[in-house]
Amino acid sequence: MSIRVLFLGGPGSGKGTQASILSRTLNIPHIDTGSLLRDEIATCSENGKIAKDRIDNGQLVPFQIVVSMIKDRLSRTDCEEGFILDGFPRSLEQAEGFEQILKELNIKIDAVLNINIPEDILIARMAYRKSCPSCGEKYNTKLKPSKQDNICDNCNSALTQRTDDSEETAVKRIQTYKKETEPLITYYHDQNLMINIDGNQSIEKIFNDILNLFNEEKNNDNKKIKA
Ligand code: AMP
Repeated sequence: MSIRVLFLGGPGSGKGTQASILSRTLNIPHIDTGSLLRDEIATCSENGKIAKDRIDNGQLVPFQIVVSMIKDRLSRTDCEEGFILDGFPRSLEQAEGFEQILKELNIKIDAVLNINIPEDILIARMAYRKSCPSCGEKYNTKLKPSKQDNICDNCNSALTQRTDDSEETAVKRIQTYKKETEPLITYYHDQNLMINIDGNQSIEKIFNDILNLFNEEKNNDNKKIKA
């Protein structure tokens, strides 16, 4: 049975962490447009150059770049058993472009999981966020510091900070989220796909809430998620 879900939520809401755990649990790909764009930047592609400027300013990368990137990715065979989208769509325009892709691929979304979290916590999470470039472990210098300053607990690599995780860019990203992405809550609510999750809890508790939803839906006639 294939499962196709989207994660919505402000920058720093923890949707990436939850999407990644869910992807490992269900063994389906986690498709994260932010990471796909950072890969484009790392390879210095033409799209990467355009994306870098937008990302560093807390703005959305142009529609055509993101939509064609997603279309290519969803057309790959590893998505046949389902996928978890994280960070896409991020505007009504993208949601409409996405509908078109879904039609072309003859598939439907099962549910949209919206991680809710207060704005001041979002800023604190982003401004102090660090990660390990080698093993991917995530830290927060205030909320979840590494044992040794700037050194990964798992593999001793030096931790790095995303260039768009400064406090100034964090505030801009939240403004962009409110203006461009928040309207999607109503959009998917109207399609009866929206499920709200309290994101102001531990990673384990949030994931547990998500798994409970999957189990509830399994026993519900009005199924959104058909795991
Ligand atoms: P994220 O890693 O999801 O926080 O995304 C980092 C940045 O990548 C965002 O602030 C945007 O500049 C850009 N980005 C990620 N996903 C999208 C998208 N679906 N549309 C446009 N820009 C995006």
